[in-house]
Amino acid sequence: MRIHELAKEIGIDSKELVKKLKTLNFPVKNHMSSVDNETAEIIKHELDDLNKKEIEENVIEVDFPVTLKDLAVKLAKKPSELLTNLIKQKKFFTINQSLDEETAKGIAYQYKVNLKAKLSQEEELLKYEAKDLKKRPPIITLMGHIDHGKTSILDYIRKSKITEKETGGITQHTGAYQVNLAKGSITFLDTPGHETFTAMRARGANITDIVIIVVAADEGVKPQTVEAIDHAKASGAPIIVAINKIDRPNANIDMVKQQLSKIELVPEDWGGKVITVGVSAKTGDGIDELLELIILQADLMELKADYQRPALGVVVEARLSKGKGALSAILVQEGTLRVGDLCVCGPCWGKIKAMHDDLGHLCRQAIPSFPVEILGLNGVPNPGEQLLVVPNEKAAKDIANKRKEAEEKRKITPSSHLKLEDLYKKAQEGEIKQLKIILKADVGGTLEAVEAALMKIPSKEVKLVIIHKGVGAVNSSDILLAEVTDSIVVGFKVTMDAKVREISRNKGIETRTYQIVYELIDDVTAAVEGLLTPQIKRTFLGRAEVKTVFKLTKAGIIAGCVVSKGKITRNSVCHLFRGNEVIFKGKVETLKRFKDDVKEVIEGFECGIGLGYNKIQEADVIDVFFEETIARRLK
Ligand code: GDP
Repeated sequence: MRIHELAKEIGIDSKELVKKLKTLNFPVKNHMSSVDNETAEIIKHELDDLNKKEIEENVIEVDFPVTLKDLAVKLAKKPSELLTNLIKQKKFFTINQSLDEETAKGIAYQYKVNLKAKLSQEEELLKYEAKDLKKRPPIITLMGHIDHGKTSILDYIRKSKITEKETGGITQHTGAYQVNLAKGSITFLDTPGHETFTAMRARGANITDIVIIVVAADEGVKPQTVEAIDHAKASGAPIIVAINKIDRPNANIDMVKQQLSKIELVPEDWGGKVITVGVSAKTGDGIDELLELIILQADLMELKADYQRPALGVVVEARLSKGKGALSAILVQEGTLRVGDLCVCGPCWGKIKAMHDDLGHLCRQAIPSFPVEILGLNGVPNPGEQLLVVPNEKAAKDIANKRKEAEEKRKITPSSHLKLEDLYKKAQEGEIKQLKIILKADVGGTLEAVEAALMKIPSKEVKLVIIHKGVGAVNSSDILLAEVTDSIVVGFKVTMDAKVREISRNKGIETRTYQIVYELIDDVTAAVEGLLTPQIKRTFLGRAEVKTVFKLTKAGIIAGCVVSKGKITRNSVCHLFRGNEVIFKGKVETLKRFKDDVKEVIEGFECGIGLGYNKIQEADVIDVFFEETIARRLK
């Protein structure tokens, strides 16, 4: 086949083809050169790739949605040409109409343009490329069962590593503090506990580098210890176990190590990988060793930050001070934060007027992993929200407003988390490969049994993973963990109080409790097999008999009825019967007693019903129902 024939087949100019083939290093001289069929196929394939690459690189940025007129300007085409193009695809638009992202991208692709959404100002600022990466101190959170000594350890470290003179008397609420040791510095978050930790993560702030799990040597591993460990594991942060209270006479370090081994945290000296250290927050025994182990672990992680970029940080605490206004404790993550910097912080903004370190000293700048309290924001941000230094006041206001709008939107629409009903579809589409479960049961024995049964469910597409299991009611920390890990919560023979149920609903977390084990297993099995579609449960509410029909100018056809059974409620689902036949299914759109709109009318009373259906007749019967969606259960 000659090159000019091939060009005709592909639909491009033959000179153009020769040029392209030369760039692709095909040995062709001119359009009269010949190639065999196999080479022609390879050329077609390579040209296809080249074409895709060229389009990929030919980026034009726009703000979506874009009007057809504006898109035409961007593509340097006539709007009428784009219109004709769309009509061919049976899509009908006007010039001033906005195109959705998919349609706009589709058109652009035909003109070999890769249309991309313009980055928001905030995204632009975050995109900054690192230039000056340097070591930064690790950020540590302590977690564990209540009373096992988290606060005492934090206090001991703070007091023992900071001299009286340094403190200046008043410590500041920076939400974190830093200790400086010969081998490096360490930043400790001041509010220990896995709930705070996961709540911060839920807000997008994954700031902890290393988790210290505190276990009292006399009491050993408790349910909350396991909970804390699972929260830490889910975050991916390395764990160091501090076995505390070794000064107590009944301390039993070996017992703790044995318990840890049973929950897949095998200590190093038992042949596992987990670093453990015996400490006492009372005598200070082992604390130096703990600090050294933290430094060692941090060195392994090679934690780095860019000290030069406009600062980024996270709010760890914030409060309103009567005299000073909003005070926000910030942990700097990247860059150097300075007095005078303009920043956006959550939905608030302002110029930093003053900055204090954790010892109460005024400071002028804060480098990565350094905690400071800042003054100057126009409001009190929430813990976990992001601080970002911006170039000017306009940017500050714009970004703060956008964040406010986004927050409002989030409040109205709960974020979408995995629902069992969607599992199969998402697995088919390759979106998910694991069904993560948080499992709660009434007693240890049943917990093990349910877990074993769940693990036996055969499934090709999705792997079942138990993120956390525990004995006791479903609690708010389970919901938080489900939120950050996109898990579902399954409870067996356990309760869930109203507050937790509400949090779960607001966050859009699938939470199911069961009393019968095979129902639980059946549901998960059905979800995995894609058989779990919601079922509508309908409860009969009442019946109305149509006595007369009249027409209102505004409301249309209204049926004058008498309620013969139960009650009729506005907005409920209804079936309209003529004889034994249902002739219309809809909703009670309007319901009136005389001229007043009412919510319900009970048996024996007359009312006017509008269904938005105008073929209603005298002697028809309206049955109304209460409908709820319930998950389908396999029998
Ligand atoms: P948290 O709830 O984990 O923060 O525990 P706390 O730090 O409040 O400690 C609970 C109790 O244990 C307090 O009465 C502490 O004084 C005590 N405690 C903490 N650490 C030690 C320790 O190493 N030895 C002894 N004997 N008591 C300790």
